[in-house]
Amino acid sequence: MMSGPGDPIQFVDLAAQKARIADRIDAAVARVLDHGQYIMGPEVAALEAALAAHSGAPHVITCASGTDALLMALMAFGIGPGDAVLCPDFTYTATPESIAVLGATPVFVDVCADSFNLDPEGLSDGLALAQSLGLRPRGLIAVDLFGLPADYAAITPWAADHGLFILADAAQSYGARSAGARVGTLSSVTSTSFFPAKPLGCYGDGGALFTDDAALADAFVSIRAHGKATGGGKYDIARVGLNSRLDTLQAAILLEKLAILDEELTARRRIAARYSAELDPRYLPPKVPPHVEPAWAQYTIRCAGRDGLSATLSEHGIPTNVYYPRRLHQQTAYRDFPKTVAEDGPASRLSDEVLSLPVHPYLTEPQVDHVIAQLNALADHHGVAESG
Ligand SMILES: *Cc1c(COP(=O)(O)O)cnc(C)c1O
Repeated sequence: MMSGPGDPIQFVDLAAQKARIADRIDAAVARVLDHGQYIMGPEVAALEAALAAHSGAPHVITCASGTDALLMALMAFGIGPGDAVLCPDFTYTATPESIAVLGATPVFVDVCADSFNLDPEGLSDGLALAQSLGLRPRGLIAVDLFGLPADYAAITPWAADHGLFILADAAQSYGARSAGARVGTLSSVTSTSFFPAKPLGCYGDGGALFTDDAALADAFVSIRAHGKATGGGKYDIARVGLNSRLDTLQAAILLEKLAILDEELTARRRIAARYSAELDPRYLPPKVPPHVEPAWAQYTIRCAGRDGLSATLSEHGIPTNVYYPRRLHQQTAYRDFPKTVAEDGPASRLSDEVLSLPVHPYLTEPQVDHVIAQLNALADHHGVAESG
């Protein structure tokens, strides 16, 4: 007999994390309430320094959300009407939103069925489409979906050859590594999110940009504070900017969470390794190259008959989620933008087949046993790959 899962399984368990570091969080919050510097207090610079040390990125600029981080990067690149930016069709809404809200045109390209990430082979078609429409191709946003870094080794030389920037949307992948290098250094410009459910989350909204380019870093600092001139006075406005500072309270909370992030990532990787080794091979998770350590924001499998599978798992106390049931170009807001994706291509299959399993760091071994046993009992009906 398989042992029962014990406590109810949460999809994300912020309460367990809170219980672990409650004293430190309370003390950190109390310090901010004491000094009262709610906007750009000392914890903001301390967090930026800690993130720079942790990631290895020379410049880290925090901001109000992962969406604003994308937006600020595109603003610094001067993106606007007439410009095209390539992005995957299978990602969160915020990715193309940051392009479209500036009046530029997102061009949707397909992903790889193996990695769920941007297909480097499809980029040339996206570039050609943008040109044929009379748009100026300026760059691409690569998304590290579910915590697996995109294939920067393939994308970076291609982008350089065509004079395009790469913006790495690492909202789901902070803490991941590729060939030993951390997210934040895999691309010249990287954005991330501190939304509570992300691998490094705060207790509200937050985000950050990482770059090796000092001029861009200056631009980010200016843009997040209404376009204030670098080194200028408060009322010396050099460009159109935003109000996108990270709250001091969130920075204080993130400093405590960053201190346990590596342990949490180790726990996520241990659970993911168990799923990959023990789940029926007819469920297909993304293929992880040997030199890559994902952040495992999600552990996502491809399955058949997804609604039935998730309902049965739910009856057995196993919560699941679907990221994402629709491709971006199928959304009302994005259906008129150009795309190179085939109707029955990889993004289409993924949107029909993906199911994300609990993989948070506070799952117990019996809970993981239970998830594996239930899924394996259903593999004859819900596996997607041929067996053998
Ligand atoms: C969460 C997410 C964002 C946006 O982050 P917010 O902090 O919620 O604004 C952007 N891109 C991707 C891929 C995400 O998952």
